[in-house]
Amino acid sequence: MTPFLAAFTALVALCWGIAPSANPVDAPYTLWALRQDALNLTGLWSISLMSLAMILATRPTCLERAFNGMDKIYRNHKRAGILAIAFAVAHWLVEMASDPIKTLIGRTGRLPKEHADGFLEIARDFAKDLGEWAIYVAIAMLAITLWKRFPFNAWRTLHKLMPIVYLTLAFHAAVLMPFDYWSQPVGVLVALLISAGTIASVHILAGRVGRTRRHVGRIAEVTAISPEITEVICTLDATWPPHRAGQFAFVTFSPNEGAHPFTIANAAGPERSLTFQIKGLGDYTTGLAKRLRLGQPVLIEGPYGCFERPRPRSDRAQIWIAGGIGITPFLAWLDELVNGPENSIKAHLYYCVSNRDTDPFVPRLEAAHQRIHGLSLSVISSDRDTPLDAAMLATHNPAQADIWFCGPQALAKTLKAERQAIGFKGQFHQEAFEMR
Ligand SMILES: Cc1cc2nc3c(=O)[nH]c(=O)nc-3n(C[C@H](O)[C@H](O)[C@H](O)COP(=O)(O)OP(=O)(O)OC[C@H]3O[C@@H](n4cnc5c(N)ncnc54)[C@H](O)[C@@H]3O)c2cc1C
Repeated sequence: MTPFLAAFTALVALCWGIAPSANPVDAPYTLWALRQDALNLTGLWSISLMSLAMILATRPTCLERAFNGMDKIYRNHKRAGILAIAFAVAHWLVEMASDPIKTLIGRTGRLPKEHADGFLEIARDFAKDLGEWAIYVAIAMLAITLWKRFPFNAWRTLHKLMPIVYLTLAFHAAVLMPFDYWSQPVGVLVALLISAGTIASVHILAGRVGRTRRHVGRIAEVTAISPEITEVICTLDATWPPHRAGQFAFVTFSPNEGAHPFTIANAAGPERSLTFQIKGLGDYTTGLAKRLRLGQPVLIEGPYGCFERPRPRSDRAQIWIAGGIGITPFLAWLDELVNGPENSIKAHLYYCVSNRDTDPFVPRLEAAHQRIHGLSLSVISSDRDTPLDAAMLATHNPAQADIWFCGPQALAKTLKAERQAIGFKGQFHQEAFEMR
């Protein structure tokens, strides 16, 4: 759980904690009371987190700074969704616990069910049934999200159902939440979250996510710079805003395929041209060079992201680490340094590749290294060199160095785990290339 989600979950629990208990004050606290409290709390957590997941799915650029990038917003969206479904399952299990409790302690202490009149009572029964079915669909969605071998495109199509599942669960929660809660802080919080989550769901279903950030462009150049990597240069219309080096965009080359996120691997310039370095990592990106045509229209949504080049500080060292195609944001940073007014820095770039002799970026990095004052470069070729580990980074003063990382998740995990051992106290900034 991220610190943000822990704080969010705690806030919901706090608001719930100050609402009146379902158990009468003078009555003993039985398993029945525990069941009712657990039912209410898990339900509140689930709908609050699911509302949050919906809000974050709208790519809210106004929150990018607070979350430190759209990739982190997506990470929080994903984890909020997983937690929401876990709490929904817990909620359903607690609901089912009435028979075992009856067997254990009988009906004594059972709290009276809330009843409403006429239409509302019918709505409550309907909401219960709908909620149960929505939970089954949400569990299936969670399973295919976690099962990474499930094809991404099929997953993406099914994932588009989530706003409908959300609206169903929001109806369930709004109709079945204890009446007393609506006049309490917890009711206000849930009302705000459900309203925002509903607006977000409608926005998503209407296909409006990122609409104001979509720009039309054309492919100006396509080059297979290696058997695995395609370099694509696109020119954009005058509406494209200048991006910051290190940002990414959702690129649609073919409407049937839909948008894929790629880092903009060059710095912004007056000619509004964007370079993408695309590695064949899956069904669509493999052999892409053969499928793209010069002059072909492209739709580019963005720019997004906050993986920006830090300002140089005399008291702190900067360690930049790129693994494989994770070099792309650093290419943009270097382009900015080579062609911009400020071409001095105090940074060490580690570039981890499988074979430095065949890698298309090594000569470019070496050229940039010659031109940028204060940039050190280490190319670590896994076919001959010792793999990068935290001990190698200890040559920098670990107490006064910060790391910027873009590359495989496994390498990031290892470095993060090992850096404590070398007394590393600086920050670890990471751009994630994974959204699912
Ligand atoms: C912020 C960001 C920046 C990226 N920058 C680059 C880059 O500069 N160069 C580069 O080569 N790769 C980059 N990637 C990775 C790139 O998006 C995927 O490799 C590519 O989308 C794979 O598509 P595929 O259909 O070939 O693969 P598939 O086999 O369909 O999927 C492989 C994996 O790629 C991811 N993926 C696939 N399609 C999408 C999509 N439409 N939206 C989000 N994720 C998707 C999923 O995690 C999936 O599991 C970046 C990813 C992110 C999140």
